[in-house]
Amino acid sequence: MRTLIFASGNAHKLVEVSILLQGIAQIQGLRQMGFSGDLPEEHDSLEANALQKAREVYRLYGRDCFADDTGLEVYALDMAPGVYSARYAGVEHDDEANVQKLLKELEGQEDRRARFRSLIALILDGREYLFEGVVQGQILREKRGAFGFGYDPVFLPDGYDKTFAEMPLTEKNAISHRYRALQKMKQFLTKQLG
Ligand code: IMP
Repeated sequence: MRTLIFASGNAHKLVEVSILLQGIAQIQGLRQMGFSGDLPEEHDSLEANALQKAREVYRLYGRDCFADDTGLEVYALDMAPGVYSARYAGVEHDDEANVQKLLKELEGQEDRRARFRSLIALILDGREYLFEGVVQGQILREKRGAFGFGYDPVFLPDGYDKTFAEMPLTEKNAISHRYRALQKMKQFLTKQLG
């Protein structure tokens, strides 16, 4: 079976991805490769950042690999915070501050439409491929739910009456942006690798 390096140090994502690609490819995380630093993400689009991370891993190891990048895009804010989602309020990964800043920016705003968008960049046999997963929804006026992370408590996906943070992880993962992008990559790999 083919081995793919997943350009992420996030143990939760690694488990999710490994399970989804079971029987198709074996997945190795960056930590298993002995890599402990951070990969560069210097661009202003999710596509470019995912590609940059995958290219860096390919440069380092010369092996098949993929990388992901995700952002929350809010229509009334010209699709911000987008690529800056993790550090919207200034400090990297301060979920509470990020959510509070988002609610403040949207104060008095009627248009609450938003979407999560995930990009996966795959390098297979030296060729590059991109896969996109999107979930449309609305930003609530206050937080609801205690599961999940990031903007989950204020994101109500279209067609559901629960926020991402009110859904158990298995329920969220079955409809999430990341899952949709991964499904596309899975279908592609199934065809390519038989
Ligand atoms: P990453 O590219 O997966 O690291 O995501 C970047 C940032 O987007 C995270 O730090 C979160 O703020 C936000 N984000 C990504 N995925 C989700 C999600 O599923 N729920 C809530 N926030 C998310």
